[in-house]
Amino acid sequence: MDVNKETLSLGAMEKITSLAKRRGFIFQGSEIYGGYQGFWDYGPLGTELKKNIKNEWWKSMVYGREDVVGLDAAIIMSPVVWDKSGHLKNFVEPLIECKTCHKRFKADDEASVQRHEKEHGGKGNWTEPKTFNNLTEVLLGTTEPKEKAYLRGEITQGVFVNFKNVTDSTRVKIPFGIAQIGKAFRNEITPGNFTFRSREFEQMELEYFVKPDEKRSKESFEDWKEIRKKWYEDLGIDGKKLRFHDHEPDKRAHYARYATDLEYDAPFGWSEFEGIHHRGDFDLGNHGLKYTDPETGEEYTPWVIETSGGVDRALLFFLIDSYFEDPSAGSGQVARVILKLHPRLAPYKVAVFPLLKNKLELVEKAREIYKTLKKDLNVVWDDRGNIGKRYFAQDEIGTPWCVTVDFESLDDGTVTVRDRDSAKQTRVDIDKLTNFFQTELSK
Ligand SMILES: [Zn+2]
Repeated sequence: MDVNKETLSLGAMEKITSLAKRRGFIFQGSEIYGGYQGFWDYGPLGTELKKNIKNEWWKSMVYGREDVVGLDAAIIMSPVVWDKSGHLKNFVEPLIECKTCHKRFKADDEASVQRHEKEHGGKGNWTEPKTFNNLTEVLLGTTEPKEKAYLRGEITQGVFVNFKNVTDSTRVKIPFGIAQIGKAFRNEITPGNFTFRSREFEQMELEYFVKPDEKRSKESFEDWKEIRKKWYEDLGIDGKKLRFHDHEPDKRAHYARYATDLEYDAPFGWSEFEGIHHRGDFDLGNHGLKYTDPETGEEYTPWVIETSGGVDRALLFFLIDSYFEDPSAGSGQVARVILKLHPRLAPYKVAVFPLLKNKLELVEKAREIYKTLKKDLNVVWDDRGNIGKRYFAQDEIGTPWCVTVDFESLDDGTVTVRDRDSAKQTRVDIDKLTNFFQTELSK
């Protein structure tokens, strides 16, 4: 049974969050002190999954292209950047405060406002809406007053302010892109839906610079929409659960010529995990930056198409989308859970077991295989319980293959390789194992 289709309910998110904590994907931030709202820590497996998502993105967006280079800009930039970018003025939300208990809410978040009024017997006593800037302030320096700066509210600006550095130091020519992955911070008033809306999050973004040309830039925008949707599909997200949600002209940011959100059909509703925006010359224009065509000498302000994805959101949706339950194959009352993560995303690629942990020859052979595979792949060792329980434990964290060393292995130099999704078992020569997995992973 696929919980995503058949038993989709509020229970689905509880199952995901419970699995995430139990198996070490995601923990609440500062949990031993009661947690800290809007912050999350990635456990041993979550860290691997996140790293794999970022690697796949980088491989596709940078290594797989001739026209994109990478960048890693600082999280704290001169406050002038945020003034010029318009964030000090425009990165704001209207906020109201409950006069009774001083809790704050977004003025336009009617559901939360009504819920809160119920706590006071259905009556609200609110302040007038006041604008609230979402940038997170930090204080720097040793002399008073300390200098006020900001944790970046988006990673994008780091690319724009380095536009000239990149064109001067590399051989990129328009059209070209600058890719970046990094943390950003928003002083969210109402973080929620697990890691979906957090105060600290990671973005993976491409800024693709094109000539100011209405028709060709629109084509580039459409191309990037398809490239990005395909990327998620290639890594296993069900295409039926993806859609584009175009921003209506009156809803899009004033500078955006076109904007669309790539949305996922999450248990808590259709939710954005990537924005594709045609930002025109707004950003480079704000910073007074221009481009000179090296061949014609023509000078202009390039237009930019942006693809802005959330690493944490992608991770959450990969977890949700890969979660399957098979009640017919569980142990007792518990259904068998299979995380059908794409093998390239799976935290561990292979688990290695000796059939019996008290047979020294089997353990030695299995250790040898484990150490050899570990040179190239993230491999895990398991010798607890019986084979069935070990499969169960590996399925639940998405390990695509389990290798079992049995008595036959000692005679003929082969092992059993068991496939997570089909539960099919095949015999593979021990000396061909690395090659076998590398081939599977390159599919
Ligand atoms: Zn109140």
